[in-house]
This record gives sequence, C-alpha cells and structure tokens, in this order.
Amino acid sequence: MKTSIIGYPRVGALRELKFASENYFKGTGTLEQLNQTAVELRASHWKLQQAQGIDYIPSNDFSFYDGLLDTACLFNIIPERYRELGLSPLETYFAMARGYQGEHGDVKALAMKKWFNTNYHYMTPEIEDSAAIRLAGTKLFDEFNEAKQLGITTKPVLVGPFTLLKLAKFTGSKQATDFVGAIVEGYKAVLAQLNTLGAEWVQVDEPALVTDLSPEEIALFTELHTQILAAKGGVKVLVQTYFGDVRDCYQTLQSLPFDGIGLDFVEGTQTLALVKQHGFAQGKVLFAGVVNGKNIWKNQYKKTLSLIQAISQHAAQVVLGTSCSLLHVPYTLKNETKLPESTTKYFAFAEEKLQELAELKTIASLEYSKSSPLYIENDKLFSGSRFAGDASVQARAAALTDADFTRLPAFAEREQIQKNKFNLPLLPTTTIGSFPQTADVRANRASFKKGAISEEQYKQFNFDKIAQCIAQQEEIGLDVLVHGEYERNDMVEYFGESLDGFAFTQNAWVQSYGTRCVKPPIIWGDIRRSKPMTVEYSAYAKSLTNKPVKGMLTGPVTILNWSFTREDISLKDSALQIALAIRDEVLDLEANQIDIIQIDEAALREKLPLRQSDWQSEYLSWAIPAFRLTHSGVQSDTQIHTHMCYSQFSDIIRDIDAMDADVITFEASRSDLSIIDSINACGFKTEVGPGVYDIHSPRVPSVDELKQGLGRMLDKIDPAKLWVNPDCGLKTRGEAETWASLKHLIEAAQEVRATL
Ligand code: GLN
Ligand code: ZN
Repeated sequence: MKTSIIGYPRVGALRELKFASENYFKGTGTLEQLNQTAVELRASHWKLQQAQGIDYIPSNDFSFYDGLLDTACLFNIIPERYRELGLSPLETYFAMARGYQGEHGDVKALAMKKWFNTNYHYMTPEIEDSAAIRLAGTKLFDEFNEAKQLGITTKPVLVGPFTLLKLAKFTGSKQATDFVGAIVEGYKAVLAQLNTLGAEWVQVDEPALVTDLSPEEIALFTELHTQILAAKGGVKVLVQTYFGDVRDCYQTLQSLPFDGIGLDFVEGTQTLALVKQHGFAQGKVLFAGVVNGKNIWKNQYKKTLSLIQAISQHAAQVVLGTSCSLLHVPYTLKNETKLPESTTKYFAFAEEKLQELAELKTIASLEYSKSSPLYIENDKLFSGSRFAGDASVQARAAALTDADFTRLPAFAEREQIQKNKFNLPLLPTTTIGSFPQTADVRANRASFKKGAISEEQYKQFNFDKIAQCIAQQEEIGLDVLVHGEYERNDMVEYFGESLDGFAFTQNAWVQSYGTRCVKPPIIWGDIRRSKPMTVEYSAYAKSLTNKPVKGMLTGPVTILNWSFTREDISLKDSALQIALAIRDEVLDLEANQIDIIQIDEAALREKLPLRQSDWQSEYLSWAIPAFRLTHSGVQSDTQIHTHMCYSQFSDIIRDIDAMDADVITFEASRSDLSIIDSINACGFKTEVGPGVYDIHSPRVPSVDELKQGLGRMLDKIDPAKLWVNPDCGLKTRGEAETWASLKHLIEAAQEVRATL
C-alpha cells in the first residue's frame, strides 16, 4: 500500500512566506529574498514528506497567494485591466491578488471567496469574452524540475478544468461552454509537457464534484475530461476530490479513463456506501482520503484500519492519503512548547499527519496486525478517556427542552414593549461594536501579556479608553452606544480565553487568504463559563451615560466555526455547550442593567453544508436553535441584536429570521441591497440595519451619499424597522476617518428622519 499527499501548507511553520511577501510588498525586502524563501520552503516540505516515505509527494501546491489564481495564470486567464498595467508576470499576479495602485495605474484586486466549506479564501478568476485561454505559465513545470533536482519525482497538482470553470466569473456574454475547446487544449498542453519532463502522475483537483450537480454540469465535466484524457500519453491522471462525497457523479468518474480517483472518506458521508454499491473500476487506483486533513486530532488507527480493509474489498489498488490538502491545518507540534504533553499527544498537525500515514501503511503491510507496537500505542490513546468531562455541563445540555429554545412573548409584542421603553427616534443610529484598535491599544495588551504591566494597569487603560469612547459617541449623537471592545484581540479568541474547555497554541497558524493567517482555538473539553467575561467593561460603559449601551458578545455558532472542533462529540453538542455559556453571560449582562445585547454571528454560514439538500438536516436544524438558546431567557424589554458579515444571506433569510433576534445589522454596503428584496419576500419580522457604508476602506462617505443610500433602503423598508449603522466593526480603521464617517452617518440619519 502506498501513501499520497494532496497538498502541503505553504506559508511556513513560522509564517516565513507571509513575512517575506509582506516585506517584498512594502519594499523592505527584495524579490530575490522572496524567491529564496519560497525555494527553501518548497525544499523543506518535500524533504519532510520524503523522510516519512510518502510515495506521491505533490508539487505546485506551493503558491505565492492562491492555487486557483495560479491555475488561472497558467492558462492565461488574466483580465485586460491587469494586462494593461504592463507589469512582469509575478507583479501582474500580485496585482490580481491584492490590487495595484502606482505609476502604472489603479486597479482593485479580484474578488475573494470562501473555498468550499473551509475558512480559506480563493481569488475568483474572471473570464472575459476576449480571454485567450492557452498554456502560458511555467510555474507547474518549474517546480516539478526543482524537486527533481533534489532527487524527488513529484506529482504536480493543478485545479481541474471543471472546477476552474465553475468557480470563475464570466464577465461578458460568453459562458463556460464557449471555452471548452480552449480549455481542453490548455490542459492537453500541460499533459504533453509533463510527459516530456518525465512526470509519472499528475493530480487534477476537482472539488466542485462534491457539490450538487445538474445533468448539464455532469455533461460538461465528462466532455472536458474525455477530450483531455484522449491525449494524455504516458502520464497517469489522478482526479482528486475532497470536502465531501461524489454521489452525483460516482459512476461517471468510474467510466472515464482516469488512472486514479481520489475520494474523501472523512467528510464524504456516502463515499464508502458508493464504493460498496457500485464497486471500483479494475485497473484504476483508489486514492483514499482516510486521515482528516482539516482537523488537528490524532487519527484513531483502529477505525481507520477497518475502513481501509472495507475499501480494499472493493478496490485492488488503494493509496492512503489525507481527506483534503493539509493547507487547512497548522504545521507542526514541534513549535508548541506551552501545551503539556498530556494534551499534545492527542494532536496531529500536518507534519504529524505524514507520520500517521506512514504508520498506517506499516500496520497495513503487517496484515493489519493488532500486535504491532504502533497499533498498540495508538489504541491506548483512545481506550482511556481524554479528559475529565464536566458532568454538570453535560447534564445541563441533556435537560434542555423546547421551552429553552423559545423566547416569549413573541416578537411583535416584544417590539412594542421595547419601542415604548427605549423611546428611540426613527432610524436609530448605532455601531457594530469595536472602535479603532490603535497602536496604543495593541501596545497595552502586548505589555500586559509580556508581564510588563499589572492587570490593574492593563484594565485601567481600557477603562480610560471606554470613557473617551463613550464621551465621543455621546458628543456626535449616536443613539445606542457601545464600549468599543478595546479588551479584545479577536472576537472568538477573547471568549475562548475566558471560557473553560479551550486549548490555545503558540504557532498553529492556518492560511486564511494570501498572507493572512489565523490561529483558531481548539475546543478541548466541555465548555463552561466559570465567571462573567464582559460584564465589568460593559457595566462601566453603561455607568457613564444615560443612553443605552449595547453589551457585545460572540455567538455560539461563530465561536464553533472559527475553532478546531472536537471529534468525540457532535458539532451540535458542542454548539449547545457554548450556547449555554453565552446564555449565562447574557443573563448576567441583563442583571447588570445592560438591556440591549448584541450577539454576533459573523460566521453563521461558514459550516453550511456544500449541498443544499443537507442544509437543514445537517446544520441549520441545530445552529439556529443554538443561537436562540443564548437569548431565550431574557425579559421582553431586553433587546437582542445580532450582526452578520459576508452579505450572502438571501438563501437562508428565513432561518436568520428564525434566530428571533429583535434587531439584525449586516454587511450590505458593497452588495446591491438585493438582500432587502429577500427580506421583503419572506415577510422578515426582525428589525434591520443594513450597513450604510463600507468599513473595509478608509474612505469617508459624504452625507449626501449616505442619505441616498438610506433613501434607497426606505424605498423598500418600513421606517419603523430600519436602523442606521456602518456595515461592520471599526477596529481596523483609524480614529480620524472613523469619527468623520460616523458624524456624516448621524447627519444623514437626522436629515432623512426630518423628512419622514
Ligand atoms: N462586534 C464585532 C466588532 O465590531 C463584530 C466583528 C465582525 O462582525 N466581524 O468588531
Ligand atoms: Zn461584521
């Protein structure tokens, strides 16, 4: 049995690529230095895999920014506006990735989107009518040669034609089908060149196959690959899928002349059943994703080995691999020195997953011998209990009844009670929570973490900041104030650190996009709130003003979706535990006279299943109730807000209404307000604050522009339901533009109000 890796992380164990790239962008590092870093990283990743005896080591999984953008450039898919800049190929690439502003012109970056059901974001290729698709790049071949010089024959990786066309945006009148001929020639040229270079295998990634497919899409996939494979020559072609099962096209894959088919047995809930039902074509190699490529837990060999045995009954040649690219997990446990061994022994990051594959291969070669020391050691880890669970948390979750998920009285009655109580003007103004995290705010936190200042000094600084922030908000005339979130580094990490049950790493970075990496907390045990987390700061803010101050919390679904989750209990059970902890905080805030509380669910959509048919059953059926659990215990005159980002809510708008908040603010300034049409179409009851300006840019919107925006909203929304606010938190902005923008926002609201 052999082993294969779909892709390895590329930013470096200590984020070397991030820093080298940023230095290059800033002009503090040269292109040679950036290239040198890239060469070293690639070599070290190949050697690590070689050292673990991985048989199919990928190349071209490296990227300076994004793999789909690499594939677009490989095939000359570069919009005119970037060509016109007249830059070098790499600079053109960075212009597409990050935008360009300089002596050659001024263009924005390509749109960035979430890569399937991960927190990784890809750059959306744009195909113009004039696009001359053809093989134009050399990166794929250069990296193959680079590895070959190190004595390693790699399996080059590229995104497949179907996924490329499915994710691309067509900017003119032409469609995917108009480009079939050119795309086919491009991929054929890649195969021809790989044959010349002596490649044995090539991996063509087609993750789009795990989504719902129409018959037309399956026909397109079939047409593309039939033509490409007809000219493949000696190189073997592996079609690699991941992030789910291929229930719509399993037999199509079997019938096409691929040499290998890569299937995901971890997230693909039906993969094994498909193999059992339809068998596996003779002569083809099954690349079986059996080690989770997305989570950080050690693999349980007992389970995996019996899975491999089951697969082997249907396929003669099985290659063991991870379920997806290791891009989605951190590098190595070697750089985690603070967590005890009793914890880290349960973890496997990318490097440790290589070792797991090597061990599984060894045990399989020993006829699955349960007396192998590798097996025994692994089994020991899973036979005991990992930690002392919190029986009280489990009992509390088990005792929940329908009533715990239902807030009473119903919305309409609450809305009236709250209007009477708060007596806010029409079109009330507010912000989303955070105010600029300026250098002094970050320095204060850093000094405290280093131990350079006492906790008291640290807090006093935050109290002073809050006082200034409240005074300024009052001065410009906002209606509902916030404390500013100066104590928070990040909306999830802050709560993770305050709750029991999370583990934190020092260097477990995962690429989110380009040079941006995140360090998700790990849900280690049962989640419990042992002490209030936000009450002190919120109550202090409230004590300074007669205006309402919104308490500010992160919701259970967002905390869950931005953490590494447990595998020993369901996501639903984890969500309920977190929801109970947030519920306690909500009730504590309420008891401290904080009568408006915002519970952010910025990442509600993040784990929405890829197939719409699974949305309710596998996700929304518990995610929405988990949110309701956080606030169902408050009084009718406590107002619950929520906030959401990333603008694509139209298709889950009913579920959002079913969260039963009193007010929802969301990002809308960059989209076309079509969300408001969806809201109207479903009879949305919750009051809404669609963001009236984009906080992702330092630009200060004019009063007129804001008035026009509000006017457009009022064409569609009842003024009694409309709130006025920016589209997200202000933490990434500077002070000057923040206050200038907010003043304009208030002026615009006042002027529009006067006309109602
Ligand atoms: N309350 C958070 C803030 O203002 C919300 C952040 C977010 O939606 N991403 O920063
Ligand atoms: Zn937001």
